Amino acid sequence: MKNLHSIIFNNSFTESFPGDLSGDLHPRQTPGVLYSKALPTPVTKPSLIGWSDEVALGLGLSNPDEEDVKMLAGNLVTPSMQPYSACYAGHQFGNWAGQLGDGRAITLGELTTSAGKVWEIQLKGAGPTPYSRRADGRAVLRSSVREYLMSEAMAHLGVPTTRALSLVSTGDPVLRDMFYNGHAEYEPGAIVARVAPSFLRFGNYEMLASRNELDNLRKLVDWTIAIHYPHIEGEDKVITWFKEIVKRTAFMVTEWLRVGFVHGVMNTDNMSILGLTIDYGPYSFLDAYDPAFTPNTTDLPGRRYAFGQQAGVAQWNLGCLAGALSPLFPDTKPLVEVIEGYEDLFWTQYYHMKGNKLGLDKVRSEDVVLIDQFETFLAQVQPDMTIFYQLLADLEVEIASGGRQAIIKHFQSSFYQLLTDKDEADLFDLISKYLERIKANNCTREISLEVMRKANPRFILRNYLLHQAIQDLQNGNNELFLKLEKAIKEPYSDKFDEFVNKRPDWANEKAGCSMLSCSS
Ligand code: AMP
Ligand code: MG
Repeated sequence: MKNLHSIIFNNSFTESFPGDLSGDLHPRQTPGVLYSKALPTPVTKPSLIGWSDEVALGLGLSNPDEEDVKMLAGNLVTPSMQPYSACYAGHQFGNWAGQLGDGRAITLGELTTSAGKVWEIQLKGAGPTPYSRRADGRAVLRSSVREYLMSEAMAHLGVPTTRALSLVSTGDPVLRDMFYNGHAEYEPGAIVARVAPSFLRFGNYEMLASRNELDNLRKLVDWTIAIHYPHIEGEDKVITWFKEIVKRTAFMVTEWLRVGFVHGVMNTDNMSILGLTIDYGPYSFLDAYDPAFTPNTTDLPGRRYAFGQQAGVAQWNLGCLAGALSPLFPDTKPLVEVIEGYEDLFWTQYYHMKGNKLGLDKVRSEDVVLIDQFETFLAQVQPDMTIFYQLLADLEVEIASGGRQAIIKHFQSSFYQLLTDKDEADLFDLISKYLERIKANNCTREISLEVMRKANPRFILRNYLLHQAIQDLQNGNNELFLKLEKAIKEPYSDKFDEFVNKRPDWANEKAGCSMLSCSS
């Protein structure tokens, strides 16, 4: 175990590609390079709020000392570090947005563990970079707490994600117009240190293709495969690689749907080339099951990034990546075929996942009807998704003999509204059919329940809980924050049942509890 500040960093990305080494932080276009040197801007008073023991252990890091906290706040750069911001582009809300880049993310370097695994360490909110455009390169405590806790929560849920090592407050106020209504206010600033094998996005490849920098594009593709997909070799490696990205992305979205996660800003600059959930902004877990729910106020007109749209948007984004890779192919047919294969891939994974949520031994062809009936019922009645599935696992197989009322009573605590006669009849029909199907399982009830317990989280990090923890932190009280930090580690257990509740009424329309803006 070592202290962070004594780590000797590798810098294979900066050493492999052309970069703008001027160190100039003024906003500008940077053609011809994949990154720009960007030193973090020091802050006034770094103070450690959160430290992820588990991530630290994986990185071989001992508890942070004062020098480490300085480093996590951007106040200390050690000689082996070559801090930089990456240049990428992207499609935002369906439109080409040109160069974006790490406007407030600075990679410090690559840490290699004793087992040989490489992790990129990146500060988010450490000051301006050449890609900050008109913004300040900073992050507020509110959004930093959200990224820190949620990326760890997702990891413990088993969803592919970037990780968070630390959360520090900076002591410097940051001006934000949270509601985009002309009433900007100062909020406390903070920095998250996040880690991933790589933060490369679809947008990194789109940038090079759009500038017609084909040598750099080819080099970046070869490098990504060699470093991050080393099992892929041979003449067809680029298409094999693309197939794997498609598969990983489909898996990531299926996992989001399993746990009820809505990303909220699925722009191509927020799509990881490794199939990780990346860039936690105005995300949310579903409380009520509403496939049209989007947590992002900016997304309201079109609901492009609503819960139920995510699988389709992922395919659209993969299409953008395919477009960026197409100059490397003499004929684009193989790319088109892979994109077309996405749907089969997704639906197979989706029904498998749903089968697990329902505790089916396997998904038989006739089960698709039952799974779809669940989907229709949930969308119609909009119970609390998480609580509904918990109650489903608590069902006694013989409950149907108690009639309609017994079943309605069983699910009562998951409903946000009164059920109509039709809703009640539909629930009875659905559960009766479901229990018949469960009886036909070729495995014991215990095994079926075990599958359900692993597929259905019990504790989820709801936005209203985050909102309360953030408010408390801003008032100097970290009790709830620390409790949530523990609870996210055990999402499938009943240890934190004090947090297993529907969203309370007071949180229905409150900003930060249901809807969020991108202002962070
Ligand atoms: P996002 O919607 O968070 O993925 O951000 C889109 C783009 O805006 C990225 O290039 C970000 O780096 C940039 N950006 C967002 N917030 C800031 C900020 N406060 N300062 C500088 N750049 C930012
Ligand atoms: Mg982003």
